[in-house]
Amino acid sequence: MSSLEEKEILIIDDSPAVNILLKDFLNRLGFKKIHICQNGKTGIDEFKEIIKSGTVPLVFLDYSLPDMNAFSIMTQLLNMRPDVKVIIETAREKTEDSIKDVIAQGVYQYLAKPIRLEKIKEIVETLKTEEAVITKETFDSVISLMSNATQISLLRLSQYLDKTDEEILPIIKHLVSNKKIIQINTIKEITCPRCNNIRIAQMFHCPKCRGSDFKHEKIIEHYKCGNVSIKSSYVEDKCPKCHQTIKVFGVDYRTQDNFYACNECKEIFAEILTDYLCLKCNEKFTLEHAKLLSSQGYSWLR
Ligand SMILES: [Zn+2]
Ligand SMILES: [Zn+2]
Ligand SMILES: [Zn+2]
Repeated sequence: MSSLEEKEILIIDDSPAVNILLKDFLNRLGFKKIHICQNGKTGIDEFKEIIKSGTVPLVFLDYSLPDMNAFSIMTQLLNMRPDVKVIIETAREKTEDSIKDVIAQGVYQYLAKPIRLEKIKEIVETLKTEEAVITKETFDSVISLMSNATQISLLRLSQYLDKTDEEILPIIKHLVSNKKIIQINTIKEITCPRCNNIRIAQMFHCPKCRGSDFKHEKIIEHYKCGNVSIKSSYVEDKCPKCHQTIKVFGVDYRTQDNFYACNECKEIFAEILTDYLCLKCNEKFTLEHAKLLSSQGYSWLR
């Protein structure tokens, strides 16, 4: 990614005085490619032109333009490029309701009027830190990975994308500030005890022979002789052990659901033996030996 000074700037403001001042400040900070538009309509057109070249400009947007409101402009810019960063210039108080709408829309930063060089410097510094790590490729892969889930953990994001938390967090921060996602609880996930990998497969076995050929069965317990076996073994209602006919449910016998019968060793069991296979290092492990890792969770804001 090119340096911040190479970044295109788009100023959308109807005041020539503000435009001159902003341009001067930005020049002093090293920005050279500055586009100025005096209304919303030409601002959007100019934005379209700039993104055609493959770069996303940093946008300075006046909150009170004569032709369009900032809310509508923001929507259009975000629809074209969800990764756009917009700095809203406003002379009003942030707490005003009309401004709250724009916050909900996902404004990147505020710039209070009268504009101060110090504040612009501060915003640029924040941007520099982020630009250093956010690449479009990573950004797009975070979005696509998140699209497949209602919630996702930082651990999963970083492992699936093979990135460090430091590379992922600025993107998360951007999505949170643009109200695309919200931070939820931490998520605890099973990982490989050998390599910490989160990509694991769950495997189910018979607890006696460790075979995997078993099926769900209803079982019958004959009280009189104590026989416990699957329903189909009571041929014509006769107990396979004592050969007496089972008669009254609850008196003679009882049934239980949620049992499994192994087709290999004939074992009947209520609890399936579950273990895990690490898809990275092929380590097999049980839940008891699994490593549980907690990390911050995120969810789409719908
Ligand atoms: Zn592993
Ligand atoms: Zn078995
Ligand atoms: Zn019996």
